[in-house]
Amino acid sequence: MRLILLGPPGAGKGTQAKRLETQFGIVQISTGDMLRAEVAAGSAVGQEARAVMEAGGLVSDDILIRMLGSRIDRPDCARGFILDGFPRTVPQAEALDRLLEGRGMRLDAVIELRVDVPALVERIAGRFTCATCGAGYHDTFKRPRTEGTCDVCGGHRFVRRADDSRATVEARLDAYQQQTAPILPHYAAHGLLHPVDGMAAIDTVTAEIMAVLARLEAGQAAPIR
Ligand code: ADP
Ligand code: ADP
Ligand code: ZN
Repeated sequence: MRLILLGPPGAGKGTQAKRLETQFGIVQISTGDMLRAEVAAGSAVGQEARAVMEAGGLVSDDILIRMLGSRIDRPDCARGFILDGFPRTVPQAEALDRLLEGRGMRLDAVIELRVDVPALVERIAGRFTCATCGAGYHDTFKRPRTEGTCDVCGGHRFVRRADDSRATVEARLDAYQQQTAPILPHYAAHGLLHPVDGMAAIDTVTAEIMAVLARLEAGQAAPIR
């Protein structure tokens, strides 16, 4: 199964991708995580990406397309993948079409997490993750079951992203509206777009996504055209 999770920053893409990863045994490909790893490693790509990411802009299509192309050729993608954070521009969406076509692969669905923009600022400002395993949490909406201990791995160290500040959120939401939202009609035209209410509780959103995938499996899904 090959899926795209689409939605603005804070919509819940990472949260849902991790659940689908567990459920279906297919890998999450988070281009944000990949870029943060490059920044941490101080690679050439990381050096180029760092300032753009901190300002809430988008890293160049060239870098992202190259990065994704080599990622989907890794053996762990053979059974499928969940794209989280890619594509983010029309050229990226077109490049993805070509990458998949060249490998005889096709997308099964694009899940659009629909959310109210004002709610996103709070989601992003309250976000933190386990430094050991990457599990995602929120100050208000998803605290660890035992304070200070990761539910998943038992780790005690948590991190917040440098770009998850109220100051940067606006630029990131702008980038979504200007550069990413225009790819929605592309997927709608291909009959691949399935909107889900991303404002519902985390478990409800997961259940809705599973329902879309079950309908697809049964050949009954009605995508937005
Ligand atoms: P994205 O990957 O789209 O940027 P995340 O999955 O990191 O978004 O979610 C952003 C923050 O909001 C995280 O702190 C997460 O725990 C929280 N969150 C995710 N989904 C929901 C939801 N449906 N309701 C409330 N909070 C949520
Ligand atoms: P979010 O959780 O806000 O959706 P991500 O972790 O997906 O954020 O991405 C963090 C940052 O990494 C983005 O603000 C952007 O600067 C960069 N980035 C990630 N994916 C892409 C992409 N496909 N194209 C361009 N820039 C990207
Ligand atoms: Zn953990």
